[in-house]
Amino acid sequence: TSIDNEKYYIQERDLKFPQKRKKNTHKYDYGSVVVIAGSKGMSGAGILALEGALKSGSGLVTCYVPHEIYIPVVSRAPIEALIKTYDCNITEDDIKNDKKRVILIGPGIGRAKNYSFILEHLLEGTLPVVIDADGIYHLSKVIDSLKESTTPVVITPHFGEFSRLIDVPREEILEDPIGYGQKFAMEYQVVVVLKGFRTIVFGTNGEIWFNSTGNPGMATGGSGDVLAGMIAGIAGQNVDLFEAAKAGVFYHGKSGDFYASRFGESTLTAHNIIDSLKYVLK
Ligand code: AMP
Ligand code: MG
Repeated sequence: TSIDNEKYYIQERDLKFPQKRKKNTHKYDYGSVVVIAGSKGMSGAGILALEGALKSGSGLVTCYVPHEIYIPVVSRAPIEALIKTYDCNITEDDIKNDKKRVILIGPGIGRAKNYSFILEHLLEGTLPVVIDADGIYHLSKVIDSLKESTTPVVITPHFGEFSRLIDVPREEILEDPIGYGQKFAMEYQVVVVLKGFRTIVFGTNGEIWFNSTGNPGMATGGSGDVLAGMIAGIAGQNVDLFEAAKAGVFYHGKSGDFYASRFGESTLTAHNIIDSLKYVLK
């Protein structure tokens, strides 16, 4: 498969998001998203992820953070979000009520704590799960649960995270990203968003979609946290996880491009991606 084959590029006209809102609706028609994120020293990751979800149109976002960062997160997070605390023995039942639609786990959670229990429970559950950053590190320890899982899952690794997950050197993956990405997506029945300068989205039936938006200004801390939040936020709005991944990747890049076209690439920070969403999702 040629990486320059145009028919595989994500095109705005094909996307299932954003949709026009119907008049007689309420917040729960637009998804209730749970974000499990952040740890001491990385409280910003949780806030960026929840803002990515909120600014993509989520009806309601609840962010679960460790007790020790509750105060900093609450004082910096948008007042529209709910902030709660959790232990690593939380299950889907604890965070689920019938209105919850999608769960994002991973941005900034770090490696110090054991996330096997919570990941196993989420994978045995019924809500779609987005797994990002160190959530992917912890996933590698419960990889059999991924194989047995029947709930929709998307993982959003950059090349380094993917390399660790599949235990193949980064250089080897760079030589055949399509082969490795497609194999994993089909074998584990999980949508794979392999992030880089030209992000590739792999579907569970072997689909391969390249992104054409984005710029090197987006190579900055927190950029991926925003994307993970966006994918979860979009998936909460009656968009299946594969389509949500495609739309998230496309508009994340487009938002970065919007900023860069006005102010250049070098001053771009993750927050600018969030702030520019209102222009590209209009
Ligand atoms: P992360 O590595 O988790 O922070 O994610 C970085 C995000 O920024 C991903 O969505 C990448 O696709 C995007 N990104 C990083 N570098 C570039 C680049 N050079 N061109 C376009 N997008 C990029
Ligand atoms: Mg990341």
